[in-house]
Amino acid sequence: MCQLTSVRIQHAGMQQVGIARVMDGVSVVDGDIIHAWRSLWLHATKVYAVAAVWLSGRRGVIGSCFPGVGEWAVYVERSGRGNSVVIDAHCHLADMRLASEDEAVMRRAAEAGVRGMMCCGTCADDWDGVLAIGARYPETVSVSLGLHPWYAGGRKSGWLEALEGRLRRNPAAAVGEIGLDHALADFDAKEQEDVFAVQLDLAIGLNRPVSIHCRRAWEPILKVLGARSGAGLRFMVHSFSGSPETMREIVGLGGYVSFSGALTLPNNRKARKVAAEVPPDRILVETDSPDLMPWRADVTQVVNARGRPSGVNEPANLRYVVEKLAEVRGSGVGEVAEMTRRNALEFFAGVMR
Ligand SMILES: [Zn+2]
Repeated sequence: MCQLTSVRIQHAGMQQVGIARVMDGVSVVDGDIIHAWRSLWLHATKVYAVAAVWLSGRRGVIGSCFPGVGEWAVYVERSGRGNSVVIDAHCHLADMRLASEDEAVMRRAAEAGVRGMMCCGTCADDWDGVLAIGARYPETVSVSLGLHPWYAGGRKSGWLEALEGRLRRNPAAAVGEIGLDHALADFDAKEQEDVFAVQLDLAIGLNRPVSIHCRRAWEPILKVLGARSGAGLRFMVHSFSGSPETMREIVGLGGYVSFSGALTLPNNRKARKVAAEVPPDRILVETDSPDLMPWRADVTQVVNARGRPSGVNEPANLRYVVEKLAEVRGSGVGEVAEMTRRNALEFFAGVMR
């Protein structure tokens, strides 16, 4: 049990319009569902909005305010250890931006309730770094090794044997990040597909779950995955950016769909529409840190040239993804945390504690 310290109701975006402080002495336990309600009304020529937040099974509203009209969000803060337990299904802890301060990164993740992380490799040069991080934090970090499509062109001979050797020596290692990327300025589709397919077959042979990257290559990737349906392939598509139809095809093939901080970007309505429709037993959350910084409405955000939040992302920021997912699915934060944690443990069975 822990104290609920504040529930903030505010516009998505940078301008904070309303703050609802929680009444003193409200405590919550894991699994509590927090509900939010908003109403609009017209008076004379102005539109007014009022929002209220309450806990399941308890009487009375625990906070309310006038959040203004437009897209809005509810953020819940709890004291200390009471955070929901969550699992980051895809991140890159061996990246120097995080590995250079791994102790602080792990401490902040623990404080934010992140109890499990799947640390993915991208090329032969980082596989040993990934394994080292996993060995250093065996209680929380699980590992995944693979050749990312961005590095398919630069692979050296013997890469597949090197990968297979490491996977065999580490029976608790998954496969990834692998996939297809047709959004690159310059790429060889055939080469990407060959490198992807051979790693999928390796994963099937070793019965390891696979973390898949896909940008603007949905048709070819569904063909490659479909050709292996029934072969025992276990896969998730990370930071999903496809359509609702593609999502349903992936689910139909037995896959999981994972959402990152991209879900929180104010103009990413497409991802939010898909996220609302994914079956509850097939959805995962991730940070893809140190990239894909989530949009945080509770701070003044520094944006890059593309208008996206910049800076080094880290697993502790997973809560912004969980909170947004809860909002778009009309669920409680604790409920989404628990649902995605269970799904991650099921999907990563055998490779994650
Ligand atoms: Zn990644």
